[in-house]
Amino acid sequence: MIEQPLNGTQLASKKTIDFLSSTHKLLIDGNDVLSAAGETLRTYDPALKIALAEVPNAKAADVDAAVTAATSALHGSWQKMSPMDRSQILLRLADLIERDTTWISEVESLDSGKPKHQIAAVDVRLAINALRYYAGWCTKLAGETIPASSPELLVYTRREPVGVVAAIVPWNFPLCQACFKIAPALAAGCTVILKPAEQTPLSALILGRLALEAGLPPGVLNILTGDGATTGQALVEHPGVAKITFTGSERVGKHIARIASATLKRVSLELGGKNPHIIFADGDVDTAAVTAAGAIFFYAGQVCSAGSRLMVEAKAFDRVVNQVVSEASKLKMGHGLHTETTLGPLISEDQLKRVSGFVERSRDTGIEVVTGGRRGQGTFASGSFYEPTVLTGAKDTDGVVSDEIFGPVLAIQTFESFDELVKRANTTSYGLAAGIWTSDVAKAHAAAAAIQAGTVWINTYNQFDAAVGWGGFKQSGYGKDNGREGIEQYLQTKTVWVNYARG
Ligand code: NAD
Repeated sequence: MIEQPLNGTQLASKKTIDFLSSTHKLLIDGNDVLSAAGETLRTYDPALKIALAEVPNAKAADVDAAVTAATSALHGSWQKMSPMDRSQILLRLADLIERDTTWISEVESLDSGKPKHQIAAVDVRLAINALRYYAGWCTKLAGETIPASSPELLVYTRREPVGVVAAIVPWNFPLCQACFKIAPALAAGCTVILKPAEQTPLSALILGRLALEAGLPPGVLNILTGDGATTGQALVEHPGVAKITFTGSERVGKHIARIASATLKRVSLELGGKNPHIIFADGDVDTAAVTAAGAIFFYAGQVCSAGSRLMVEAKAFDRVVNQVVSEASKLKMGHGLHTETTLGPLISEDQLKRVSGFVERSRDTGIEVVTGGRRGQGTFASGSFYEPTVLTGAKDTDGVVSDEIFGPVLAIQTFESFDELVKRANTTSYGLAAGIWTSDVAKAHAAAAAIQAGTVWINTYNQFDAAVGWGGFKQSGYGKDNGREGIEQYLQTKTVWVNYARG
């Protein structure tokens, strides 16, 4: 593994340094405001463990002010605006994000530790595409006429926004998760309160500024930084919020579903995954192995769709293990702002402890650590870096096979037969995604049908598109982001009955 120097913030632009040292405020009703209680949170560069900025920790009073603003905009400016004008604003916002790609990627990289060049190519691109895709939906949300039993009744439906939406997002894809939620919600005519994760609040603050620059009326998009227990919880409890769209952990997702039921909020949950990545020996094994390495080491494995359980048909096992290990050795650990870096730090020391705990327990039970298995060495020991790690010999019941690790740790297992594979791949409680590599078309489709997951990739992995729904089965949650299904959850249908009998 090649190591990059760690002088990240020295590489930041003046614009970023100025932004970091400015006073960060909440965005409520189009105004930058400090939290009513004045409490703040610090955000850190996980590579250097230095504080980057302080942001408000929004309290219940701030949530209340944001809900009031969003409710007023819902029934006022946003409702009165034509669908075509709303569409134009979403397109302008996409253009502004595109204009500021370099700056946003730099800030997001410092905040999350992820490589800047990958943020620009993946996160920012996905965010822009979501806005452009849903801008097209604004003008296409038509109801229908229904032939009722009486010829003198006209029955038609209207597609109406569900109301004020609280979008609560995690730290691993801050900007793009925010846009996956904001774009369809705004296209549906809803107004939004966005709560970014406490570890990565900065890109949401930029997004709020750009939304105003794009012409979004005050109150349509409000940004509340803060932690989950304070800001998130107050949003989930607030009776003025009609829908929660949440991406994050299974634990918090289940908690939110319970609390939200008290006020009958709509809830959609994009939760964790333990995604089986399957290689049959008959396929393009070399490409599959290289892709499998990318599927786990991209963003240091901090990806819900990470292919963290690789299942390889026995006769291809040694070849795949060797190739994955070789790919791991090519990764360049370093600060996210270095252009060469391909493996950044984990988000925090806590996350690093969690990841290394899985590996240490594996070692204790005799699982082989083929490569990696340590925190970053030398200068990297001071940041939350973890080496790309490959394990073999784990059983289906071992934690590294059954649990979401959210780190650069891959468990590689073997299988002998198709039926055995399907049974074992479905042992996980999650059902987010799966990958299958084979040249046998019948086998590919049979496996895709049998595996319990919201997404199955065949002879590819980690493909995302604003037009294609994304969401899990089982403990990975319910509801979809992206695609037609992604906007349905922000709409409710009203039925109108008209009696046009004469006399
Ligand atoms: P998390 O659940 O700890 O936090 C997610 C968000 O929830 C944060 O904004 C947090 O502040 C907020 N939150 C925490 N407690 C809350 C409460 N009581 N009420 C309301 N909000 C609260 O998750 P994380 O650690 O930030 O993210 C990692 C998890 O996200 C992983 O499990 C990962 O698989 C999942 N994830 C899923 C997808 C997907 O599309 N399925 C995508 C990305 C991440």
